[in-house]
Amino acid sequence: MRVIVVGAGLSGLTAAADLAAAGADVTVLEARDRVGGRTRGIEVAPGSWVDAGAAYLGDRHTALHAMLDRLGLKTTSTTMLGASRFSLGGGTRTRDGRFPPLNAVALGELFDELDAVTARVRPDAPWLTPGAADLDALTAAEWAERTLRHPDARLFFPLFLGEMMAADPAAVSVLHMAFYLRSGGGLNYLNAFEGGAQQDRVDCGAHQLCEALAAGLGDRLRPRSPVQAIHQDSDAAVVHTDDAAYRGDAVVVAVPPLLADAIEYRPGLPAPRAGRRTRPGCAVKVHLVYAAPLWRDAGLSGWSVSARGPLLSTVDDSPADGAVGVLTGFVTGAEALRFAALDPAAQRAEAVDQVAALFPDLPAPIGVHVTDWVSAPYSRGCYAALAGPGDWVRNGPHLIAAHHRVHWAGTETSTEFFGLMEGAIRAGHRVANQILSVPAVGRTR
Ligand SMILES: Cc1cc2nc3c(=O)[nH]c(=O)nc-3n(C[C@H](O)[C@H](O)[C@H](O)COP(=O)(O)OP(=O)(O)OC[C@H]3O[C@@H](n4cnc5c(N)ncnc54)[C@H](O)[C@@H]3O)c2cc1C
Repeated sequence: MRVIVVGAGLSGLTAAADLAAAGADVTVLEARDRVGGRTRGIEVAPGSWVDAGAAYLGDRHTALHAMLDRLGLKTTSTTMLGASRFSLGGGTRTRDGRFPPLNAVALGELFDELDAVTARVRPDAPWLTPGAADLDALTAAEWAERTLRHPDARLFFPLFLGEMMAADPAAVSVLHMAFYLRSGGGLNYLNAFEGGAQQDRVDCGAHQLCEALAAGLGDRLRPRSPVQAIHQDSDAAVVHTDDAAYRGDAVVVAVPPLLADAIEYRPGLPAPRAGRRTRPGCAVKVHLVYAAPLWRDAGLSGWSVSARGPLLSTVDDSPADGAVGVLTGFVTGAEALRFAALDPAAQRAEAVDQVAALFPDLPAPIGVHVTDWVSAPYSRGCYAALAGPGDWVRNGPHLIAAHHRVHWAGTETSTEFFGLMEGAIRAGHRVANQILSVPAVGRTR
């Protein structure tokens, strides 16, 4: 059986590896000159790497852990010892732990409301949730306006959503927000470092997963091959790049939904899928490199939360080898759109100035790296696609339904751990099984 996989991110490569292991003749077409998609490593000192894309994982990410074990990759824990810095209006304050210096009752109510709406969602099929149409019609911003009374809850909600989903509350439906939180293990699990979804990082970078999978595929992987069109007839599917055509029995499209939509399909996609227009999540990551994690000397964890950008939060992402200290700043939601439009010098200057205000004892960084996912043509945003009003109810039932020989993968097709590396890997395994379970009739020779 010949299978063409479109996209060499974690999902496409997982599918390709499974299919190749089962004896399929696999070709992987990747638009970029590198593999990994939304995982990407940056070398911040010789041999020391940090994650410009996906970084954190937890113990419930079982498919990811199984893959790490199989590939011989290790994890390191995300350090979160010491006090945090908060700039939430009225100056910058230091607090033990991560709880912000805001009204505790108001934040408790915010999290109770979020828990309540999250508990209502049917995680395997959010569009079948009782009252789905109503939850899908409302944006998270409208929900906050109606639900949250206290100004501190209203201040903190967009910061929380930006950190969790790289989403502006006006861009997502309540159904999507609740589904995302439920799919990722619930509010507490997603938000936690120790014992939660951000407990660990892959030592030397998550991009190594994709590089190891790609190495196993050898010359079956074709970089610099953006797919433009997929045509099908009764005998085969033909996948077209700018300068080549690849014939297969089946095709796996493992790219984010906006990019899957940009491919031309003949016959055309059925109406609901063709109307699938999710919005991009918006995040820019900034890495500030120091000779060592110097904030730890002052009893600080490196964690900060700010109401004003660009860096709405920072975290200590120092490599385990101790060669340098790295603070990662997250620019998310609407702020990411503004920041992405600045020239590189202005981006660096804004980030450095803000860190100097948050951590005044730090010297100037010895390196600054800005990774803009908003403008990346073959990602079109991150951490994952966002479903706006109506998207889940309209598109959900068609999420993984094959279009003849075309099958869908990518983290956005997984209702388990949607938007995360774990979701990407589970979707890759699922699509490989889906293809391998099709009877041999109709395969190309
Ligand atoms: C800044 C950031 C932080 C994140 N943080 C985390 C985190 O901490 N933990 C976590 O679990 N997840 C995180 N994520 C999400 C995680 O990276 C993704 O869920 C996962 O990597 C998605 O994998 P994928 O294979 O589904 O898609 P992608 O990685 O997007 O792969 C798709 C591939 O398809 C290629 N492509 C696109 N269009 C075409 C085309 N027309 N033809 C051929 N190839 C094409 C792309 O170049 C890409 O290589 C983060 C993502 C980002 C960017």
